[in-house]
Amino acid sequence: MNAAVPVSLPVISPLDGTLLSEVPLSAPADLALAVEAARAAFPGWSKTPIKERVQVFFRYKTLLEKHLEELAALCSEENGKTRSEAIAEIEKCIELTEFACSLPQLVTGEILEVSKGVECKTEYVPLGVVASIVPFNFPAMVPNWTIPNAIALGNCMILKPSEKVPLTMSRIALLLKEAGLPDGVFNIVNGDREIVQAICDHPGIEAVSFVGSTAVAKQVYQRATGQFKRVLALGGAKNHLFVLPDADVEMTAQNIAASMSGCAGQRCMAAGALLAVGNADPVISKICEEARKIVPGENLGAVINAASKARIEEYITEAGKQGAKILVDGRKAIVRGKEKGFYVGPTVIDYVTPGMAIAREEIFGPVIAIIRTRTIEEALAIENTSPYGNAASVFTRNGGLARYIMDRASAGMIGVNVGVPVPREPFSFGGWNESKFGTGDITGKSSVGFWTKLKKSTIKWNPESGTNWMA
Ligand code: NAD
Repeated sequence: MNAAVPVSLPVISPLDGTLLSEVPLSAPADLALAVEAARAAFPGWSKTPIKERVQVFFRYKTLLEKHLEELAALCSEENGKTRSEAIAEIEKCIELTEFACSLPQLVTGEILEVSKGVECKTEYVPLGVVASIVPFNFPAMVPNWTIPNAIALGNCMILKPSEKVPLTMSRIALLLKEAGLPDGVFNIVNGDREIVQAICDHPGIEAVSFVGSTAVAKQVYQRATGQFKRVLALGGAKNHLFVLPDADVEMTAQNIAASMSGCAGQRCMAAGALLAVGNADPVISKICEEARKIVPGENLGAVINAASKARIEEYITEAGKQGAKILVDGRKAIVRGKEKGFYVGPTVIDYVTPGMAIAREEIFGPVIAIIRTRTIEEALAIENTSPYGNAASVFTRNGGLARYIMDRASAGMIGVNVGVPVPREPFSFGGWNESKFGTGDITGKSSVGFWTKLKKSTIKWNPESGTNWMA
């Protein structure tokens, strides 16, 4: 007899292990209904002028501002991040929405008289029904990478939140409705693998954006492009930070400690590996000092679940067994009164070698692996052979050396003296290599190309002018 198939999953707060809710697992039949609703809404929505469409997002922005505290509380509760991180996340949603409100200025198209009485014209045309599949680590921000832009550009959307953090998006969906978004333009389906596969396969969906781990990004990219859909799939990361001997000790250490531990290290832009070129001892001891000020349950949130905590701790243990030196050890962190929460303290591991799992793999916890190198070339070789390529940063006061590393690092987003080099709007977000599959980036100006197709028209206004090569 088959085991009963679950129809819902528990949503548990990582902060203290409390059961918050149950998330229903949508069946492919539910997806079919959502796509039907979206397809029905598309003709009306896509024909609404963009200046009118963005009015919804002006109102949505105001609603995000009004409900900032409430949304941040929900986001923190289901994801485990601190209140201030959750507030920053909702503020980022507001910034993303501001960009979408500016889209009419970006998509004016072009027109030119290419020969006497003949004009060529380009227009940005929405694709139809599009899907967005998102991870657990930013319950509000990553969905808002796609929702405002895709919808303001005239598409209708099916969003699949992470089954681990579905609550913030349910609340945000109500705000979109309150902002005046017509029924059917935005739809949520819940679930995990099965519903994602159904999205990839559904013939009524034109494009799929995905953000999550590399293993799943590859599967989604292959499956959805196999159905001839347009796909942009962002994957995982292992971000390398080059620290040169002349780096400002205080600033570098503070930036690196914040980058490795912010959102409990559960960021695709987190510092994962520190490439210490030459003598970096002053910076390393200052990072340890900063890390010790980061206290689980106070200024450090929880990791998403018990499995994640166990996995992170296993990486640390294994690195220790292989000869790395654990300078600050975050294993077995307990927060008094929240003993059922999933906490890992900040962890600094020195003398990691490039072959160790902790040097190569994404840990997704507040852990930094320090690899000591003698030269910049040695450090670059390590960064360049990582399968990922989301971000890299260099800490130095030497502009020439910074430029040298910027030019050679194999990553889509580069920082100079910046721990988390996230490009802010109107610049676009996206990595290279196995951190992203597909063309273009997911936010900012570059996203316009993903969510629209160009119509090119050639128009002759003087038929009396006779025939030419365009006849
Ligand atoms: P995940 O890959 O486990 O899940 C992402 C989404 O895919 C979720 O909605 C999930 O329900 C679904 N999913 C999970 N397993 C699936 C499967 N086998 N088949 C189909 N769908 C499946 O990722 P996560 O744990 O939620 O998020 C963490 C990962 O996301 C990290 O690797 C992180 O680096 C990455 N991430 C990347 C970026 C980026 O911009 N590159 C941003 C945020 C997070």
